Amino acid sequence: MDLKELYRDVILDHNKRPRNFGKLEPADSRADGHNPLCGDRLTVFLRMSGDRVEDIRFEGKGCAISTASASLMTEAIKGKDKADIGTLFGKIHSLLTQQNAVADSSLGKLAALSGVREYPARVKCASLCWHTLNAALERSAGARNETPAAVSTE
Ligand code: ZN
Repeated sequence: MDLKELYRDVILDHNKRPRNFGKLEPADSRADGHNPLCGDRLTVFLRMSGDRVEDIRFEGKGCAISTASASLMTEAIKGKDKADIGTLFGKIHSLLTQQNAVADSSLGKLAALSGVREYPARVKCASLCWHTLNAALERSAGARNETPAAVSTE
């Protein structure tokens, strides 16, 4: 299967049946993300065990790429600690923004996101969930019950 097919199949599948979709209650942290260029909005909910993401869910409304990317992200980071997530974020960022970045095998289905490079206007759709996740992780280290963190890609 070439990358274009992988991209199409994975994005279609995860947009149609997003994994870990819905509210997480109670959550230790949450953050809202907004991509004004496309109109994508999503909320990421986290339940933490120390530095580890015990559970993650998301909800929101956006284009196929933003929904599929968030769905793939929740699958990839559940059970990982902050250091591993930081490493993964770096790899995804390269994959989305560097034409010659190669997906290593640790990325699994996330490799499909490299297909987004063909559509530069959609890169922010794909990265929105990751920025929102980072905001939620930062908040999880601080006090709870405050106004949720909000991120905008602009
Ligand atoms: Zn979008």
